[in-house]
Amino acid sequence: MPEKDLQTSIEYLKGVGAARAELLAGELGVRTFGDLLQYLPFRYVDRTAFHRVADIVSDVSAVQLKGTLSRVQEMGAGKKQRLTAVFEDESGSIELVWFKGVKWIKPKLHYGKTYVCYGKPSRFNGRWNIPHPELEDEDEVKKRNLPRIQPVYSTTEKLSSRGLNSNGIARLVRELLPQVKGLVPDPLPESFLKKLRFPSKDDALHYLHFPEDLQQVERHRNRLKLEELLMLQLLLLIRKRQTTVELPGVRFEAVGDLFMQFYEKYLPFELTSAQKRVMREIRGDVNTGRHMNRLVQGDVGSGKTIVAMLCALLAIDNGYQAAVMAPTEILATQHFESFSSMLNKLPVNVRLLTGSTKTKERNEIHEMLDSGELHILIGTHALIEPKVKFQNLGLAVIDEQHRFGVAQRARLWKKSKVAPHILVMTATPIPRTLAMTLYGDLDVSTIDELPPGRKEVKTVHRFDNARLKVFRFLKDEIAKGRQVYVVYPLIEESQVMDYKDLMDGYESITRAFPMPEYRVSIVHGRMKPEDKEIEMRQFSTGKTQILVATTVIEVGVNVPNASVMVIESAERFGLSQLHQLRGRVGRGAEQSYCILMTGDELSKEAVVRLETMCRTNDGFEIAEVDLDLRGAGDISGTQQSGQMQFQYADLNEDGELLKTARHLANELLDADPDLNMPENRPLARALERLQKNRPDWSLVS
Ligand code: ADP
Ligand code: MG
Repeated sequence: MPEKDLQTSIEYLKGVGAARAELLAGELGVRTFGDLLQYLPFRYVDRTAFHRVADIVSDVSAVQLKGTLSRVQEMGAGKKQRLTAVFEDESGSIELVWFKGVKWIKPKLHYGKTYVCYGKPSRFNGRWNIPHPELEDEDEVKKRNLPRIQPVYSTTEKLSSRGLNSNGIARLVRELLPQVKGLVPDPLPESFLKKLRFPSKDDALHYLHFPEDLQQVERHRNRLKLEELLMLQLLLLIRKRQTTVELPGVRFEAVGDLFMQFYEKYLPFELTSAQKRVMREIRGDVNTGRHMNRLVQGDVGSGKTIVAMLCALLAIDNGYQAAVMAPTEILATQHFESFSSMLNKLPVNVRLLTGSTKTKERNEIHEMLDSGELHILIGTHALIEPKVKFQNLGLAVIDEQHRFGVAQRARLWKKSKVAPHILVMTATPIPRTLAMTLYGDLDVSTIDELPPGRKEVKTVHRFDNARLKVFRFLKDEIAKGRQVYVVYPLIEESQVMDYKDLMDGYESITRAFPMPEYRVSIVHGRMKPEDKEIEMRQFSTGKTQILVATTVIEVGVNVPNASVMVIESAERFGLSQLHQLRGRVGRGAEQSYCILMTGDELSKEAVVRLETMCRTNDGFEIAEVDLDLRGAGDISGTQQSGQMQFQYADLNEDGELLKTARHLANELLDADPDLNMPENRPLARALERLQKNRPDWSLVS
């Protein structure tokens, strides 16, 4: 009954008992033998290496010294009481200092003895000292025969006060290891471990508590990380394979008339080489009979729309219909307008369906869809209502996918007898490692090049007290015929305050930019869709010069003449949101600007965000910083990943291992798609357990 032994309550480990067991559970979540076995040191101290006092020149984490004591002194009294001693080796001397426990430490300090001193140097009044060092008689150290490499466990104050500091935990682990040797089941097949020269899970866990050689630590740790990453990749790939098998793709074999005509006569510009490459990748999917499930990521303004449109033409050329779904009415309308105007010379029927489409028109659309007369339907969530049925949907394009849940995507799939190809477009660039994890069941294409002639948006950070200067700048730009966005944050929980800020801001802007010289539009989420529409149109047709808005304009809005983006309370926005907002300008030929307004009090993170924005326009670089700042689980647009936490792996660091895991997962599934072979069964069982415990993982996509 090996499993049972790992499940044994930690209370029964020698040296623990009921009280400490409760503490271990409460403070560290360690409840069983197995938990403690998995509670690995976060670093190690190489006890074979000694530093020299003279070499302490900067903030090192900790040093081990060997030497003698002199000048032991007790100073002060009460709370100010402290004990100092001078520690000396052949290279120099450093002060040791204790603020607590003076009474029982002092008698242990002897002149002339050789001590091993271990601690973290710190700088005080321009000199180095070591507060509260561990000090041990060298002879004692030798006698105790300590491991050369000492594990350091993270612990808490409460635990330390009950004897469970790092060393205390190490003692428990030393007690534990012989009792659990060989008990940890290994989900990874043996052949696999051999090939990679990886230790078994049991060996890895044991080794990492008391390694003999620091060089070997990484290999053992990678063993544990790889298992985690492999499991996730397997889940994703199994899912992907299932959908591919269950849903044979419709085939767009021909590059037909419409596509060719449009490409040769009406395409208003030459495609960038990145756009061409992505088109080739898509063609490679859709003409094979494979079901396409592809994510196209490209920075704001990189030209994703035209890619979607060309795909739609491919679908129509092959006798299928296409749907384009956008997250907001404004965006859907804009897509509708650009599709209609680009395709107006071709016999292609395009319609718009949103929440505000009138019943009569809606019915007309339903009929035309059903008869196949309608080629392209563009819209919002209205597209996934059950009443909307296509005759022959071959392609579903989803723009700005993070606004759509997985379930909503699934509903689109079911709109037609055959499952349509899915093209998901996102302007929230995702670092590659993350994309592989989050979108394991999607193939990823990247438009990593902007159309030619774009000027970088100049970005600056200004404090609120510079507002008048900023206003003057806006007036200059408006005088040149440009338009300006002013965006206010709107965070769900504090809506009332945010609306007040927005309305106050609007008022002060109308005062600073009075009629009739200036005209100001306002758009926010509490307005009726019709009113929003009117205000937006006023701005997009140039009748108003300033658009005051909440983040409803974050996604997709395209007004090339707008050249300034002012973001109020910029410290409250996340990086990817700031980048999205900035993407609203810089769409025309003019130099554009983004002005980040903030108050004086800024958190460290906010400063990094603002600096990053001012430094770069590169969405991928920004995404990397975002990943660093927030960790993988929190990146905007990846809410599904919220619970995706690894025990050992770290997506920020383990990109290479992740690639290996993906590769291995594919190999495994190629050889044994259902993981039915005897040597793969433990793996299959581990996956089942994982799916049961982390249902969210199976939904990631
Ligand atoms: P996004 O990727 O943010 O959705 P859009 O598709 O809206 O970007 O494109 C942004 C602008 O760039 C549009 O005005 C579009 O017409 C233009 N555009 C797209 N591709 C090219 C290209 N290859 N050359 C020049 N302009 C382009
Ligand atoms: Mg777009």
